[in-house]
Amino acid sequence: MLDCAIIGGGPAGLTAGLYATRGGLENVALFEMGMPGGQITQSSEIENYPGFFEHDKTGMDFMDTWQKQCFHFGLKHEMKKVESVEKTGEHFTVTVEGGETYEAMTVITCTGSVPKRAGFKGEDTYFGKGVSTCATCDGFFYKNKPVTVLGGGDTALEEAFFLSNICSDVYVVHRRGEFRAAPPTLDRVMRKENIHLITDSVIEEAVGDAMGLSGVDIKNTKTNEITHMDNTGLFVFVGHNVNNGVLKDDKGGFICDVTDWGQVVVDLSMKTNVPGLFMAGDIRIEAPKQVVSAAGDGSIAALQVISYLQELA
Ligand code: FAD
Ligand code: NAP
Repeated sequence: MLDCAIIGGGPAGLTAGLYATRGGLENVALFEMGMPGGQITQSSEIENYPGFFEHDKTGMDFMDTWQKQCFHFGLKHEMKKVESVEKTGEHFTVTVEGGETYEAMTVITCTGSVPKRAGFKGEDTYFGKGVSTCATCDGFFYKNKPVTVLGGGDTALEEAFFLSNICSDVYVVHRRGEFRAAPPTLDRVMRKENIHLITDSVIEEAVGDAMGLSGVDIKNTKTNEITHMDNTGLFVFVGHNVNNGVLKDDKGGFICDVTDWGQVVVDLSMKTNVPGLFMAGDIRIEAPKQVVSAAGDGSIAALQVISYLQELA
């Protein structure tokens, strides 16, 4: 029987593992289907993690020392994809790909989220080299420069507003004439002088060279006219997929409370409504989707697991 099963080995899961094992739990497994590190390993740099100020290091370099530190105190890595988590009586059954099962007293789910891709030409080529899905992470690279934002939902408009305080101009490209975002958010954006709404339009192509993105072609879907925008960063906000599949039950519902958008409901202790089941990182409600906050969540969840097990003993 595991004291704790941690699912997902990004910043949240690794930190949860560090705190759980260093806090005295001896039987803790981290189920990570790939190499530990999480989404940030796809990033060419990280500039906003306090205490780490090395411009020539990639997200992969950044996570390398995390692995060494987090496994130092006895955390075990099971390189397996978890299929499901089920509460059976007082404990949990974790089923991995292939059908093998593990019993655990507690579970911390840290499976993260994935920003959706829009599917235009050049999006994958220049992802991380001018095409971004994170304004908090990459907005500063475009200080006093123009940027383009794709999307018409709450995230796109809120992030456009955030960028408008850093960048010279923000061009919001949306495929329809009506915005999906809440009316007060749209009003706020429309009042900002340096945000320009370009409706009935799509990104036809992200263009660039070996150095990265150099500009975007924007197509008006009513006239088919194409406008080229030079020297712009491109931020894509067309929705997120929260990786909550492991929490689905066999009837298609969830084993714990989840919002309409798929984020797991937790309190400030990272507790779900199911005793012994905790969340950390991008999967939880109102996650800021930052490495530093995912790590903070992981530490909170692990400390709560230790208290929970002490109360059961
Ligand atoms: P993740 O990092 O998503 O880790 C989840 C892990 O769970 C993954 O390793 C995945 O393989 C594993 N997993 C998922 N499902 C299963 C399963 N069923 N079984 C087993 N394992 C599973 N944040 C910043 O603070 N600063 C930045 O500069 C920054 N830049 C970014 C750049 C890019 C390109 C991207 C994509 C993100 C960036 N972020 C940045 C955001 C940051 O990476 C995330 O907020 C953070 O990684 C979330 O951590 P997490 O542990 O919750 O989830
Ligand atoms: P969203 O509501 O699904 O909006 C995605 C936007 O991207 C839509 O405008 C959509 O266009 C557009 N889009 C989707 N696929 C596209 C593609 N391939 N090419 C071009 N455009 C594309 O996603 P979100 O904005 O991330 O929000 C997700 C949920 O979180 C929503 O329920 C939202 O209300 C909520 N949220 C709330 C807040 C808040 O309350 N403060 C903040 C952020 C998010 P169409 O409109 O034409 O479909």
